[in-house]
Amino acid sequence: MRFFDPHIHMTSRTTDDLQAMAAAGIRAVIEPAFWLGQPRTQVGTFVDYFSSLVGWERFRASQFGIAHYCAIGLNSKEANHEGLAKDVLQLVPRFALKEGVVAIGEIGFDEITPAEEKAYAWQVAFAVEHDMVVMVHSPHRDKKNGIRRSIAVARELRMPMGKLVIDHNNEETVEDVLEAGAWAAFTIYPHTKMGSERMVEIVRKYGPERVIVDSSADWGVSDPLGVPRTAKLMLERGIDPDWVAKTTWQNALDAYAQSGQIDVPSLLETPVIDQSRLFHDNSVLRGQTPRVDAPVPN
Ligand SMILES: [Zn+2]
Repeated sequence: MRFFDPHIHMTSRTTDDLQAMAAAGIRAVIEPAFWLGQPRTQVGTFVDYFSSLVGWERFRASQFGIAHYCAIGLNSKEANHEGLAKDVLQLVPRFALKEGVVAIGEIGFDEITPAEEKAYAWQVAFAVEHDMVVMVHSPHRDKKNGIRRSIAVARELRMPMGKLVIDHNNEETVEDVLEAGAWAAFTIYPHTKMGSERMVEIVRKYGPERVIVDSSADWGVSDPLGVPRTAKLMLERGIDPDWVAKTTWQNALDAYAQSGQIDVPSLLETPVIDQSRLFHDNSVLRGQTPRVDAPVPN
């Protein structure tokens, strides 16, 4: 099977992860801009971070046959540092329209503060103006209200609900999101409440329409193989294989291909890996023989 993990922070992951992901069938990923575990203090660190999402990380994933896309945005947590937030928002237009950027994200609410709402609304308005998809992070505390508010603000700004992906859902929020007409993404957190077991039951109950599974793997305890593992469990528990394919591949593709940034036919082909390529004179290899696949004949 072929998988799409539409939410994963590869900058925090290793080449071992990339190899394991490719071996497990992950063909494409989306890396949304997020916070890095400690607060940044200068706008320049965001410039370099956004640059790595459209540059080095895209290259690094390609070296293992994984198509890498990203989302650009100011995350909700750092939106609360209002002085810095103002400068970071000015960077968003500079990066959001670059090649490989499929959405504005991940943006939304963390503590549900006025500063978070201001940054979220500004970025949703930008997305509406540029006809972009938005990836919404939802808070871990008071999730239900955070999600309701993020949908309400998006509606006020005339965001088409078919371009709104709300992430980190659970059983208590899924109905609100699906009823609104938005995409409902679910992050599989290992050893916590929202694991693969619960995901199976959510898909059984709500069906596959507009439901997306992702890993959100990052610098914390997380699982970059969350999508293929959940797919396997769904199949073992008797979920229709078409539903599994929709929730672990097709829906994410349909949602984010609206950006026009995803070459869908190429994702259906076997990836051609060329590890002799360099990025700014840098390679992911350490003296190993590069793998160079023969080009696919036309
Ligand atoms: Zn994330």
